[in-house]
Amino acid sequence: MGSDGGSLFGLGRGSLTAIGVILMVVGIILFLASIASLMTPTSNQFDFAARQAQMNSSFATALVGMVLLAVGFGALKLGMIRPVTTYVASEASPAIERLSEAAGQGLERGFGANPLGRESVVKVKCRNCGYLENEDAIYCGKCGKPL
Ligand SMILES: [Zn+2]
Repeated sequence: MGSDGGSLFGLGRGSLTAIGVILMVVGIILFLASIASLMTPTSNQFDFAARQAQMNSSFATALVGMVLLAVGFGALKLGMIRPVTTYVASEASPAIERLSEAAGQGLERGFGANPLGRESVVKVKCRNCGYLENEDAIYCGKCGKPL
C-alpha cells in the first residue's frame, strides 16, 4: 500500500485538475450551446412538433453539460484535496478487506466448513466427494450435494 505514490487511480494531482478544468469548460460550452439553440427561433414558429424536438435536444445537451460540469468539479476536488482522499483510500481499503475477511470466516463458520475449533462436532462423510461435513448440515459444504 504505497499511500505516498502521488497518484490516485493512476492519475496524478495535476492531471486530475487538468481533466476537471477541461470537463467543466466543455460542460459550460454545452450548457451555453443548449441555451443558445433554445433562443434561436425555428424556421416556423407555429411548427410545434419541430419546436418540441428542438427543446428536447436542447434539454439533453444541457443535461450532458451539467453532468460534465459535475464530473469536472469532482475531478477538480479530487485533485485539490488529494491528501485527504489518499488517506481515506489507504485507510478504508484494509478496513474493507478485514471486513470481508471476517464475513468470509463467519460464512465458513455458518456452513461448518472451518475445521478449526470444530473438533467436538460429529462429522459425516459426504457420499459424493468424501468431504467431512457437520452432522447437522443438510448440504455438503464442498460439492453442494445433499447429505
Ligand atoms: Zn461433497
